[in-house]
Amino acid sequence: MSKKIRIAVQKSGRLQEQSVKLLKECGLSFSNGPNRLKTETYNFPAEILFLRDDDIPQYVEDNVADIGIVGENVFIEKQKDISLIERLDFSKCRLSIAVPREKDYEGIASINGKKIATSYPNIVQQFLTENNITAEIHEISGSVEIAPGIGLADAICDIVSTGSTLLSNGLKEVETVMKSEAVLIANNTLDAETQVLLEKLIFRIKAVNTAKNNKYLLLNSPNDSIEAITKVLPGMKSPTVTPLQQEGWSSLHSVVNENEFWEIIDQLKALGAQGILVVPIEKMII
Ligand code: ATP
Ligand code: MG
Repeated sequence: MSKKIRIAVQKSGRLQEQSVKLLKECGLSFSNGPNRLKTETYNFPAEILFLRDDDIPQYVEDNVADIGIVGENVFIEKQKDISLIERLDFSKCRLSIAVPREKDYEGIASINGKKIATSYPNIVQQFLTENNITAEIHEISGSVEIAPGIGLADAICDIVSTGSTLLSNGLKEVETVMKSEAVLIANNTLDAETQVLLEKLIFRIKAVNTAKNNKYLLLNSPNDSIEAITKVLPGMKSPTVTPLQQEGWSSLHSVVNENEFWEIIDQLKALGAQGILVVPIEKMII
């Protein structure tokens, strides 16, 4: 029987949906019923394990899974002998220190001698050490944001994305400890066959994620603007230029980074571009 790569993803929670979506976009098809712990993929030699995200780094280190998808915050916190292989560009958040809104805060020194509640004791300790701060870390596994309100701590360090949870608990964000996104992690001692499968998967992930950030751009340009428009179009070799039936006009096709596109749209219009179409790209091999 040929080798399968065992991929650990979160069973339920904020990483689950996008992790499954990414694997499916990479061409792995599988069913993921809510109560399944393990499933096989039909068209790629892989097995998916659905686990609690906190447990994934340990399972990857112990070779129960070969690779896994977790938040970078969990990867760093767990300090396992495993590797970060690829950033995945979703579940972006930050780990921040927050204090009660009514408390004065004058920089990180205000934390000295205080009690901080967090689910990320290792990350917080490292941050405190780097900043020459001594504080007591109180580890709790959930609902960290209520700790100051019930007198358990003076400050917290927790995940923030919009800040609305902090706000509704009367807290204000005062320091960013780290930025995080979903990452692909791997065991450090994969055998050669599994390594080949991992490389195939990384290649596909890159193709999917590159495509997400880029758009296929089509526009009509007066022939005497082609040169100017070509100069404005960012990050590309040269556009494909096809003459239109209408005399003096051509169609230009190119790939542009989505963010850059919004910055140049006015210039394109000013140069006479018409019929601008921006189309999603499904996969992009570069
Ligand atoms: P589990 O039950 O699997 O242990 P959990 O409750 O620990 O789940 P989730 O809340 O599902 O974890 O978050 C998983 C990861 O998603 C976090 O470690 C973090 O990297 C990321 N994350 C958490 N909250 C947000 C958010 N609000 N926005 C974006 N990403 C987030
Ligand atoms: Mg968890």
